[in-house]
Amino acid sequence: MAIATINPANGETLKIFTALTAEEIETKLAKASAAFGSYRKTKMIDRAGWLRNAADLLEKNAEAYGKMMTLEMGKPIQSAIAEAKKCALVCRYYADNAADFLKDLPGESDGSSAFVRYQPLGIVLAVMPWNFPFWQVFRFAAPALMAGNVGLLKHASNVPQCALAIEEIILKAGFPEGAFQTLLIGASQVESVVADDRVQAATLTGSEPAGASLASTAGKYIKKTVLELGGSDPFIVLDSADINAAVATGTKARMLNNGQSCIAAKRFIVSEGIADEFEKKLVAQFQTLKVGDPLSEDTDIGPLATASMCEEIADQVQKSVEMGAKVLIGGKPLEGKGNFYPPTILTEIPAGSPADTEEFFGPVALFFRVKNIDEAIALANATPLGLGASVWTNNHEERDRAIEEIEAGAVFINGLVKSDPRLPFGGIKRSGYGRELSIQGIHEFVNIKTVWIK
Ligand code: NAP
Repeated sequence: MAIATINPANGETLKIFTALTAEEIETKLAKASAAFGSYRKTKMIDRAGWLRNAADLLEKNAEAYGKMMTLEMGKPIQSAIAEAKKCALVCRYYADNAADFLKDLPGESDGSSAFVRYQPLGIVLAVMPWNFPFWQVFRFAAPALMAGNVGLLKHASNVPQCALAIEEIILKAGFPEGAFQTLLIGASQVESVVADDRVQAATLTGSEPAGASLASTAGKYIKKTVLELGGSDPFIVLDSADINAAVATGTKARMLNNGQSCIAAKRFIVSEGIADEFEKKLVAQFQTLKVGDPLSEDTDIGPLATASMCEEIADQVQKSVEMGAKVLIGGKPLEGKGNFYPPTILTEIPAGSPADTEEFFGPVALFFRVKNIDEAIALANATPLGLGASVWTNNHEERDRAIEEIEAGAVFINGLVKSDPRLPFGGIKRSGYGRELSIQGIHEFVNIKTVWIK
C-alpha cells in the first residue's frame, strides 16, 4: 500500500511519501536506542510537564489536526476535532497519575523487606490503524513515555501526515530528540523492526491478520506484545429497556466514525417482544442521518477511509443479501466520487452469511431477533471476537447475567461502549490481549522488578 494522503471524499491524491530505506530505519533505531539511555533517567515530573505541553498543543491546534484527520481518512470534522481534544485528556490523565501508578509496591516476604519496582523496557514499537489516527497513538504514547520507554510509530499508510504531526507535537512539547519517532514504512517492513535486538516490545491495533503476523515475529524473538484487534460487538436490547434511549444511542454506537470503530455496535440483538418497535424506530433514526462532505459541520456520515474498505463492505452486504438477508434501508454504495456508503440495516440474516459471521467495518447494522436473554447471550458469544458489548435492560437479574456471561473485554449497561483514559480497554478471544489505558495500560510495557532485601 502506497504511503499517501488520498482524500476519501473525492479520491484525489493530495500527497505521496517515500517509505524509509533500511539505512534510514537503522538511523532511527540507533537514535531511539541512544535516547533511551538518557530518557529513562529523566524525572517523572519533567515527563509529566512535557505531556501537559503536548495536551496544550493538541487543544490549541485541535481544528487544524481535526482537518488533517478528516482529509486523510474521512471522519466528520466535528468528531475529528473532538478526537484531538480527547488526546489532550489522556495526556493529562497520565501526567497526573503515572507517578502514583508506578511507585514502588511493598510486598511481604521472608527477607527483611521486599517490594516491586516498575522500570521501563526500552524501545516499544506501535503499529497503529487509521480509524482514530490521533487517539490510537496518544493512548499508547502517553503511558509508554511516562513509564520511561521510547516510542517508534508505524502508522497506517493512509494517514502519513497525522503520523508526522504526532511526532512533531511530542517533540515540540519538550520530549528529548529520539524519545518518539515516526517511521514512514510499509507493513512489510515491520518484521525487521520487531526482530531488531534494540526493540523490546510491540503493540498493534488493527486487523486479525496484521496482529497475528506481528505476534508471530515477536514470538520468534521472545518479545512482549499487546494486540487490540477487531470486534463484532453486540448491542442487546431486552424488554424492560428504554427503547427510545436505546435507539438513539444504538444509532450513534453504530455510526460513530462512519461506522469504522472496533467497538461500534455491529450486531443488534433485540428481544422479540419489542423488536418490531425497535426496528421501526431504528430505521427512522437512520433515515435522519446526513451522508456527505466530512468537512461540513452538519454531516453525520462521511466517506469510508479507502476505496477498498468501501468495496469490501459492499461485497459483504451483497453476498449476505444473495444468501437471503433483507435490506431495510441502504444496501448499495452511493454513486459518484468518493467512498460513500449509506446507513444500512440488514435483517433476517441467514446462518453462515457474511452478516452472520464477519465483522462489518462501516455503517451497516445487523439486526437479530431473539426470544429471551438466554438466546441473546448465546448469540452475543457466538463469535470468535470479544471486544465490547452494550446491554439495555432495567431488570437487575438480566443486568447481572449479562455482566457475568458475556465474553468480552467490556460490558456497558444502558450506555455506549467507549474508551475512557480512566478505564482499561482491550479484548479477549480473537480481539486480542493486553490492556490499554488506566493503571493496567501503563503496566503493560514495564519491567515488574521484584526486589528482595535481607
Ligand atoms: P490493518 O490493515 O490491520 O492495519 C492496521 C495497521 O497494521 C496499519 O498500520 C497497517 O499498515 C499495519 N499492518 C497491516 N498488515 C500488517 C502486517 N502483516 N504486519 C505488520 N503490520 C501490518 O487494519 P485495518 O483493516 O486498517 O483496520 C481495521 C481493523 O482494525 C478492524 O478489524 C478493527 O476492528 C480493528 N481495530 C481495532 C481497534 C481496537 O482497539 N481493538 C481499534 C481500531 C481498529 P499499512 O497501513 O501500511 O497496511
